Amino acid sequence: MNIALVWLRDDLRLDDQPALRAALDRGLRPLPVYIHAPEEEGAWVPGAASLAWRRRSLAALADALERRGSRLLLSRGPTLAALQALAARTGAEAVLWTRRYEPAIEQRDAHIKRSLRQAGLHAESFNGALLFEPWDLATRQGDPYRVFTPFWKSARAHWRAPVTWDAPARLPALDAVDLSAGERLDDLLPAPRPAWDAGFWQRFTPGEDGARAALHAFLDGAVHGYAQGRDFAAEAGTSRLSPHLHHGELSVRRIAAAVLAAGDAIAEADRDRFLAELGWREFAHHVLHHYPRVPDHNLDPRFDDFPWAPADETQLEAWRHGRTGVPIVDAGMRELWHTGWMHNRVRMVVASWLSKHLRQHWRHGARWFWDTLVDADLANNTQGWQWTAGTGADAAPYFRVFNPVSQARRFDPDGAYIARWVPELAGLPLPARFAPWEHPELARRLAPAYPPRPQVELAAGRADALAAFATLRRGAP
Ligand SMILES: Cc1cc2nc3c(=O)[nH]c(=O)nc-3n(C[C@H](O)[C@H](O)[C@H](O)COP(=O)(O)OP(=O)(O)OC[C@H]3O[C@@H](n4cnc5c(N)ncnc54)[C@H](O)[C@@H]3O)c2cc1C
Repeated sequence: MNIALVWLRDDLRLDDQPALRAALDRGLRPLPVYIHAPEEEGAWVPGAASLAWRRRSLAALADALERRGSRLLLSRGPTLAALQALAARTGAEAVLWTRRYEPAIEQRDAHIKRSLRQAGLHAESFNGALLFEPWDLATRQGDPYRVFTPFWKSARAHWRAPVTWDAPARLPALDAVDLSAGERLDDLLPAPRPAWDAGFWQRFTPGEDGARAALHAFLDGAVHGYAQGRDFAAEAGTSRLSPHLHHGELSVRRIAAAVLAAGDAIAEADRDRFLAELGWREFAHHVLHHYPRVPDHNLDPRFDDFPWAPADETQLEAWRHGRTGVPIVDAGMRELWHTGWMHNRVRMVVASWLSKHLRQHWRHGARWFWDTLVDADLANNTQGWQWTAGTGADAAPYFRVFNPVSQARRFDPDGAYIARWVPELAGLPLPARFAPWEHPELARRLAPAYPPRPQVELAAGRADALAAFATLRRGAP
């Protein structure tokens, strides 16, 4: 039985795995291989939290493969050379993989495909990450979409029931194959020391089994009432599937199929709202593919002249470490630091604080998220930052500045989220917990360790942001 290299990247699963399926369908013996080559990801080398997750996900995948009689081969880049050497050593006739859409990766992969084919190998890639690939949908004029609503309307009109493929119970053995070139996981991706990631694993279990368990927990729980519950920061009102999706431990088709299969058991409003969130992920990948400069440049070029404040390391450090003096912002930044994840509503609030009240360029925030999020995803992170900063596709207009105190009152009404992540505020009663500076006596007595004032005064920060925006509008075409 001839061999096919199944080159695994952000698709660390066996279920609904199109490259693995293609190998088996062609009667080839799959040799699953992961090649570590972060430097090939251009300016967006995976961040520390993402790599900590990947390490665990690879360990889980290796176990799953061994349970089925196969193996995971770990190797090091440069990727093309590693694939060629491996194909030569094992006599593989094909290299199969799932597509990615990050600009540097798309270019690299196209080069790899050409080179492998020139060398006489069968090289083929598949869609395993999206419901709609970026080129599947276009406006009537044939252009890419820049606005979510018509994009999603078109997606729903072209919707086909997601077809999924179950993980095989057994895989062909690789006993006779020379796997001596394989590296040890501990050498390739050493465990973080000190173990700054310990808090991540109290919330998340990387790997396919953890992903499945998270999906089932969501379907049994938070999906009911999701349309409203998704906004409340203190509750587990969302699926928390984002790191599993980013690392490809669960396919989006599998998730969509499971939600649809539940039928009337899930209220229509909850189902449609959840599918639309998956739709935002689809849209982010569409935009990233068609506008590959967006991770570093405003999608709306009018903002190229925006008077951002000069980078202020003191302010940025306080923001990064949850010492801004604004409770909901600090709670979010500390949740991120401890768990590698932050609630979506709070992501918007902290991003707005940075890019509007502090007028720091959104890129500073995107970089910090990139390094600290376990779900750091170039398409989604870029979109989240550009949307909140008002510079992107379908952006919230710049003049809509989130008020972090009213956001906290509305989406953390009991102050439980703030108390959990900023324990020095837990003894402060409501409403002082939302805005301690408005209750200075109480704050001095009951929360002496917390900054007495916000980094910038709320009304002044908002007024400055709007004044900066007004100069832009005067100058705009
Ligand atoms: C500033 C900022 C940065 C962000 N950075 C990232 C990032 O790096 N990686 C990331 O996956 N998401 C990012 N998001 C989007 C969103 O916050 C997360 O996807 C969501 O919080 C993940 O939690 P969940 O899985 O419980 O989401 P759920 O509400 O359960 O949604 C299900 C899935 O839909 C997708 N999704 C949900 N909301 C969005 C959205 N607004 N945009 C794109 N996809 C979405 C995610 O894949 C998510 O797992 C960012 C948002 C903002 C405002």
